[in-house]
Amino acid sequence: MEPTNIINVHTHTFNRRNVPVKFLPAFLRPVADWLENRIFSNILAWIAEKLLRQKQYASLIKKYHSFLKIGDGKTQEDVLKELIAQYPIGTKFCILTMDMEYMGAGPVPQPFEEQLRELAMLKRDPRYRKIIYPFIFAHPERPNILEIVKHYIEVENFTGIKLYPPIGYYPFDERLDKIMAYAEKNRIPITTHCSRGGVFYRGKITDAMRLHPITGERLPKTDNKTFCQHFTDPANYECLLKKFPNLVLNLAHFGGGSEWLKYLDKKIFSGEDTWLEKAADLMVEYPNVYADISYTMYDPRLFPQLKAMLQLGHIRYKILFGSDFYMVEREIAEREFFLKLRAFLGEDHYPIIANINPRVFLGIVK
Ligand SMILES: [Zn+2]
Repeated sequence: MEPTNIINVHTHTFNRRNVPVKFLPAFLRPVADWLENRIFSNILAWIAEKLLRQKQYASLIKKYHSFLKIGDGKTQEDVLKELIAQYPIGTKFCILTMDMEYMGAGPVPQPFEEQLRELAMLKRDPRYRKIIYPFIFAHPERPNILEIVKHYIEVENFTGIKLYPPIGYYPFDERLDKIMAYAEKNRIPITTHCSRGGVFYRGKITDAMRLHPITGERLPKTDNKTFCQHFTDPANYECLLKKFPNLVLNLAHFGGGSEWLKYLDKKIFSGEDTWLEKAADLMVEYPNVYADISYTMYDPRLFPQLKAMLQLGHIRYKILFGSDFYMVEREIAEREFFLKLRAFLGEDHYPIIANINPRVFLGIVK
């Protein structure tokens, strides 16, 4: 593989049938099918902004339009073809599956196992076999999840494991211990969601859930979105890595854009660390902890900080290129995402995060 060939470690090909029915904000659900239409969504956004003076609704409508345009009514192969078309020939992609059946947002039209089978077919297809690296999602509440993970890794040639704590579990959950031990022993890479944004658990937050299982801290009563950040906090990985110090772990989104901005705005370097700092500390402390810059790096205000970290050196070989296709479509077009970043970082730095580091993370020799 040429050192200039891109490996995008964070993409998705699941479609709207893999997403629970209550995923969209309530006010958009009745018009979900029409939102894919550009003219309709533009008119709706105009009404929200100009007539109702609800600028935030207008931007939500525009975001969901670009999102649904890709994710609706298509097979995973259709979505994959759209992704491949955005990048130079030779680019490879980690495809992260999602299991959203246990997040309290209603039923999922297409069962998780079907999502996996569809992706496994693509991995067997000679046209895509060498292009895609599928990751199997691990939710501790899914029955027989250890067997499912082993099957897809060993029989269907999936490459890694995906975790998404804010949908309702801690990454150090004991029910995942056997999977973590298996991953550590066999050097299977794990990508885990690590930003304040994204989807979150929609069910009832019980009193039992409000007790942090490690610190014993009584967590305050808040809305679900805020509460679920306790699951996502990078500090949780200290607990996981104490048990499994050699895990190959990618903290996806590198703490998230809001935390990067908080860091940039920090006046006094005391008080609680931002998630950017917590993630970077783990990357220094543990040999196989990485972070991808997917989604987060759609915001060019963050580029100088990324470049500085690549120049400083101590985590130069721990940062991974990913885009979060097609979630990031809500903010920026895929091609623009990677071209802007590549132009800013230049050829001294971009191949490090887009080729050299992903190869080590994924354990690709050639
Ligand atoms: Zn993602």
